Amino acid sequence: MISIKRYESDLLLSNMYVVTEGQHAIVIDPCRDTAAGRGLIIDKIILTHEHYDHVSGVNMWKEFCGAPVLCSQICAEHIRNPAKSLAKYFKEFCELQTWIKLDSIPDFDPDYSCLADETFSDTMSFSWEGHVWDLFEIPGHSLGSIGILLDKQFFFSGDSLLEKSKIELKAPGGSRKKWEETGSKRIERLPSGIRVFPGHFNDFVHRIII
Ligand SMILES: [Zn+2]
Repeated sequence: MISIKRYESDLLLSNMYVVTEGQHAIVIDPCRDTAAGRGLIIDKIILTHEHYDHVSGVNMWKEFCGAPVLCSQICAEHIRNPAKSLAKYFKEFCELQTWIKLDSIPDFDPDYSCLADETFSDTMSFSWEGHVWDLFEIPGHSLGSIGILLDKQFFFSGDSLLEKSKIELKAPGGSRKKWEETGSKRIERLPSGIRVFPGHFNDFVHRIII
């Protein structure tokens, strides 16, 4: 049976998810702690988007398990560049946050970069251990953002669909235009009642408000 576990990172409390089926696992937005992967066969690492708080553990996890990293083509280009992943500006980014209370800025590497192994543009699907994963670009919050739909009932939204706050479109690299043209349209097509696993905070049931 499928299981989805959430782990909060030390960087703006971003969520890492470990999805398991038997001994096999897929990790979404890896953080800087591989303990959750012990005893599992990690088949893939998927990134919801390029922002540093969501990709900080990529190098550590790759060293730990060697699994390929999958993300959008644009995300792949941006995680190579600390200015595009915002690693370079992470301190300033933390200082600007009002939605989260930070006692101190965590340790981080402003020159951090990492690499993807598999990329796609627009949409892609794959099956894994009897489950279907549908991935699709939802640019807006960042140009490399994707939505990850598992078995048409669990949705990993990154920072593009949160329960209580509106999507942030003003961070460097965000685009209101792309969000209105593409990203928001794809989110609107999601069925009501699916469970959303966001990039920060707890999961929730998606309700379409008309
Ligand atoms: Zn983000």
